Amino acid sequence: MTVDTTKGYAEQSYGTINLRKYQVDAINFTLECLMGGKTPIIESPTGSGKTVISIISSILYAKKTGKRVLYLTRTNSQQDQILKELRILSGPLDFRAMALQGRSNLCPLYMEIEEESDFTLESLSKMCSSKKKRTKEKKEGGCYYYNGGISSDETRSYILKNMNSPEEIFETLRSRKICPYESLKFAMRDADLVVMPYANFVNSNMALTTLYNWRTSRENLVIIIDEAHNLPEIARQSNSLEITMNMINISEKEAVNFGDPEMQTGIHVSDFMETVRESLVELGRNLNENQGERRLMFREIFEEMSIYLKKSPQDVDYLVDALISFGAQVEDLKEEKGKVPMSHLKSLGEKLKFLQYAEYDRYICIISKKGEESVEAYCLDPSIVLEPLFKSASIHVSATLDPVWLYANMTGVQNYEFRSIRDVFPKSNLLVLYSGDLSTKYTEFNGEMVQAYADRIGDILSKNKRKTMVFFPSFNTMKLIGSKMQGTPHLIESQSMNQRDFQKLLNEYRETGLPILGVMGGRLSEGINMPGNLLEIEVIAGIPFPRPTIKQRALVSYYDMLYGSGWQYAFLFPAIIKVKQTMGRVIRTETDRGAVVLLDGRAEMLFPYIEAKLSTDINHDLELFFKNNT
Ligand code: SF4
Repeated sequence: MTVDTTKGYAEQSYGTINLRKYQVDAINFTLECLMGGKTPIIESPTGSGKTVISIISSILYAKKTGKRVLYLTRTNSQQDQILKELRILSGPLDFRAMALQGRSNLCPLYMEIEEESDFTLESLSKMCSSKKKRTKEKKEGGCYYYNGGISSDETRSYILKNMNSPEEIFETLRSRKICPYESLKFAMRDADLVVMPYANFVNSNMALTTLYNWRTSRENLVIIIDEAHNLPEIARQSNSLEITMNMINISEKEAVNFGDPEMQTGIHVSDFMETVRESLVELGRNLNENQGERRLMFREIFEEMSIYLKKSPQDVDYLVDALISFGAQVEDLKEEKGKVPMSHLKSLGEKLKFLQYAEYDRYICIISKKGEESVEAYCLDPSIVLEPLFKSASIHVSATLDPVWLYANMTGVQNYEFRSIRDVFPKSNLLVLYSGDLSTKYTEFNGEMVQAYADRIGDILSKNKRKTMVFFPSFNTMKLIGSKMQGTPHLIESQSMNQRDFQKLLNEYRETGLPILGVMGGRLSEGINMPGNLLEIEVIAGIPFPRPTIKQRALVSYYDMLYGSGWQYAFLFPAIIKVKQTMGRVIRTETDRGAVVLLDGRAEMLFPYIEAKLSTDINHDLELFFKNNT
C-alpha cells in the first residue's frame, strides 16, 4: 500500500514529545491502514518509541471513529512504562486512561480471608458476586470494601487523572476501605484508553466481562498488541491444560474433607481419584523416569480408566459429570463458610471433560514423566483462540515480527500491511559477526564442541576488555560450557534467581565489569535496559532452535499440513525471535554502539531476517570496529 504521508495525520510534537520523522511516518502509516480497514503490523527496534507511535495513532484513530483503545501488554509490570507515556500524551491529545489488572491482584478481601493462593478466576468472581449481594441486602458476611466510594466522583477522578499504576491504586484505595477492583471497573466507563495484560483479554470469558464493564463491544475497539511476537505462544498456553499428580492428590484430599460420597454403587470420589491416578501411572509405565514423554490418543486415558474400574465408557462419562457436580456442591459449602468457592474436584472434572471432547485435529495429548506422571492437552493452533480478538481493529507492534507471514498465519490476522522500521539508529553503530565452525546442534554438541565453545568465549573475553554478556540457548548448555571456563572470571544468571538476586547480579556487573553468562529468552536477554556503554559486546553462543520435542514435531506436522513449511513455524520463527530480542539489548539509543558475535554456523539459516558478517578472526574484527568507533 502506498502511504501518503502528506495527508499529515500526525503532528510533529505532542506536549514535550517531539517526534522523529520515522515516528511521524509510522503514525501516518498506521492511521492509513486503520482507516482503510487494514491491520498494521509494525516492527520497530527497541528504543525507537513504539509505545508513543501506538498511543498517538490509536488515539487519533479513536477520535476519528468514536472507538476506544485497549492496550494489551504481556505482563502487569510493563504497564508502568506505558502509564508514564500516557501521562505525558493525555494532555495534548485530550484523553483519559487507566490500567487494569485481574481481581486476584486487586481484591483486598480475598487477601484477608485466604492464606493460600487457592483460587480460579471463576471462583473469585463467584465469591465477589455473593459478597456484593450480601452487602446490598444488608446481610452479614458481605464485603465492607464494596461501598459508595467505588463510584464516587473523587475516586473516579483520582484514577483517571493521575493514571497511577494498579499497585498504587490498590494501596491508596485499600487504606480508604474502598474496593480497588470495583473502583477501576466504574472508572473504566469513562476511560478512552485502558491498559491490561493479554491474558485477561485472550480468555473469552474475561474479555466479555471487560467489554461489559467498559460498556462497549469488540467492534468499537482498537486494540494495541504490544510485544506482539509473544501473542502466538500466549494464546497457545491459554488454551492448553495439564493434569498433574499433585492436582489429583489435592482433589482427593478435598473429597475426603467433604465427606467422600459414593458417586456410583461402590465407587466413592476418592476411588475415582485413585482411578485417574493409576490410569496415568499405567499410561506412563514405559516412560523414562527422567523427563520421558509420549504422545497419546485422548481416548486412551478414558479407556484405561474404564479397564481399571471394570466399567463401560458411558459409566466413566457419568463419573466425570458426577465429579463436576460434587465439586459444585463443595464450592457452595465453601461459600457458605465465607471462603473462596474454589473446588479442586470441579476443576479436575472440567479438565477431564475437556480431554474427552478436545478437537483432535488441533490439540495433541502428551503423557510425560518429570518425577511423576502428568497429562497435557496442547493447543497447536493459537488462531482458534485469537479469532474473536480480530473482530476489533488492531495494531501489532514489536521489535521482532518478521517473517511476518509466519506471524500472520499463526495468529490468523488477515488483511494486514507490514512496515519494518529500520535505520532508526546509525547502522554503523552495530557490528554483527558470526563464526562458521561452531554449533550447538545436538548431533554435533559433544565434549569437543563444548571445549571449543569455552575456549572461543574465553579468548573473546580475555582479549576484549569491554562490558560483555554471553547468552546461551538454555541453562543446560550454559552449565556445560560454563563449567569449562573456570579460568575466566564471570558472573552467572541462575534459573532460580528472585528479583532481588537479579538486581544484585546487575549491580555487580556494573561495578566489577565482569562478564555475565545468561540464557536467551530469560530476564537478562529480554527484560533489561543497558544504554550507553553498559553493554558493548554480546556473544550469542548457539542458535536457540527449540529442542525437537513431541510438541515441536507435532507443530511441524500441523503447519506442514496447512502451509507446507512446518519447520519454519516450529523452529525458525522461535529462534529468530529469541536471537533478535537478545540482540536488541545492545543498541538502545542513537549514540550507543556495540557488537554481537554469533558463535554458530547455523546463523546463516536466519538470513535475511538477521544480517551478520562471517568472521574468521573475531578479535581482529572487534578491535577494528571499536577503534573506528571511538
Ligand atoms: Fe473483593 Fe472488591 Fe469484590 Fe469485595 S467487592 S470481594 S473487595 S473484589
